[in-house]
Amino acid sequence: MSRDFPGEAGRDRLRSALEQALAEGRRHVNRGKVAAYIPPLARADPDALGAAIALPGGEVVAAGDCRHPFTLQSVSKVFSLLLALERLGPGAVFSRVGMEPTGDPFNSVLRLELAEPPRPLNPMINAGAVAVCGLLVEQLGPGSFGELVELVRAAAQSGSVDVDEEVYLAEKETGHRNRALAYFLKDLGVLRAGVEETLDYYFRQCALRVTCVDLARMGLFLAAPPGSPAPVCRELIRMVNAFMVTCGMYNGSGEFAVRAGIPAKSGVSGAVMAVVPGRLGVGVYGPALESRGNSVGGVELLVALSRRLDWSVF
Ligand code: GLN
Repeated sequence: MSRDFPGEAGRDRLRSALEQALAEGRRHVNRGKVAAYIPPLARADPDALGAAIALPGGEVVAAGDCRHPFTLQSVSKVFSLLLALERLGPGAVFSRVGMEPTGDPFNSVLRLELAEPPRPLNPMINAGAVAVCGLLVEQLGPGSFGELVELVRAAAQSGSVDVDEEVYLAEKETGHRNRALAYFLKDLGVLRAGVEETLDYYFRQCALRVTCVDLARMGLFLAAPPGSPAPVCRELIRMVNAFMVTCGMYNGSGEFAVRAGIPAKSGVSGAVMAVVPGRLGVGVYGPALESRGNSVGGVELLVALSRRLDWSVF
């Protein structure tokens, strides 16, 4: 049994730490703003904050606003990367995308022209994720999106994870910067599949709808505690966790690593998936974002939890 869950007493300790961290997170939500680039995200309640912790053995401890479904947005980048690594191998993936953090905003175009060799710096920024989607479309066809959905469903242990059509269509309608990134990648020869087919894959993965509990279980899947079934090679899981530490919170990744010290990935819906390697997963929803696109309350909640429960991997 996990050291985070030694029976009733351990569960009570976890629950009370989560409640206290939630209160800490709530103190910060008014510093943030919800993403407004598409109507379905702009409608989110800026005061909402909820979190769930998934433990080995199936137990889940949840608190706050955990019932709202929300879309994965950039959290999806972790799973399309994992799918590409598994199906196509690290050699193919890293011929199209690098391994270095950028320090730039997630949707920046800036370094595409400067990087040498010419390719996106990492798979957690939009340009890198579009390159990974393009590789999946090129090598496996657009139908491989079904495999991505199956991977996310397996990780979330939920057959109901699916594309939110309204969000998908709104992303497609307004995604001019992503379209620009894709055309730039096409020009560089990094993207060899069709631009629109690739963007369709990317917009659909961003629009996959989950709950906090799904997200916590997805984190647990990547925590890969000893004895858990390993449908994906552990070496690949180790790689995506490393990307989450260095690039998962965009240009706030360094600060998050110093303050919380755990792999995490955020999305503009206010989702944050965090991983305590070998131990547990956390799913957070808090749609009020700071300027870099990370959930304000979610980050503070995770920092408080990590400190209280000594989760840092460093
Ligand atoms: N759909 C968003 C975009 O492509 C996802 C980015 C994010 O979550 N940071 O701009």
